[in-house]
Amino acid sequence: MKTLLFATLLVLASCEKPQESAFSSRENASTGTDIPSSWNPSVFPLKINISDSFNNSEDQAIRDMANAWSDSIDNNVQFMDANYYTQEKNSSLSGYEDSLIGVYKLEQWPSTLPATALAVTQIIGIRKSGYIEITHADILVNYQNYSFTTDNTWGYDLQTIILHEMGHLLGLYHDNSSISESVMYPTISRYSDNRAPREADIKKIEEKYSIDRSAHNSRYLAGNFETSQVIDDDSDKVHEEKVVIQFEIMADGSEEHFIKVLE
Ligand SMILES: [Zn+2]
Repeated sequence: MKTLLFATLLVLASCEKPQESAFSSRENASTGTDIPSSWNPSVFPLKINISDSFNNSEDQAIRDMANAWSDSIDNNVQFMDANYYTQEKNSSLSGYEDSLIGVYKLEQWPSTLPATALAVTQIIGIRKSGYIEITHADILVNYQNYSFTTDNTWGYDLQTIILHEMGHLLGLYHDNSSISESVMYPTISRYSDNRAPREADIKKIEEKYSIDRSAHNSRYLAGNFETSQVIDDDSDKVHEEKVVIQFEIMADGSEEHFIKVLE
């Protein structure tokens, strides 16, 4: 894995526009081992900025799904606060790297992404020894090519898509067990309707962020959070690489993700 990432780094260094190429090109991307990824929990709640081009019911659906992740662990951690707004970017993928974590409604889907992708979650992080510390994320929904509804009428269920993408945003990869056991199952159909994380998802989130729902003190055990992930050890720095992960959920039921080195 390390060799592969290093090789990618060398290829990018020789490109004329390494930044743009790293965001858009799949050529040098790795789809190999899922490196554990997580936010430093001190940044919770993440401020989620909803694009003001969503209508009221879509906006409510997104906030409901942000809350659904916290509700699933009895609100021991508020992962996200989705009461913020932003505007559409109409930008290349690299333009989404800013200080705002956004959920965007794209009427013009970037040509660098597959047209058959329903939505893409793009995560940017720093690869340290054995894990990725997530520093930024955005969710892009493809309204150019697909219809989404919030009330179980015709179209893809927006809540289902957002709940799944927010799982990626929190650092979850896929769970292949079954669609009834995990909202991180890699296939979403027009008939999928998942409005709350399932037990398998909850277990993974609890493990990732060292949350103990059974503790009398309902605060999560911040002090026990995988210690190596919180302490910035100088020896770690030589291994640090900036990476982007793109999760694409496709209308044909397939899904892929790509891990790429940015610097
Ligand atoms: Zn996914």
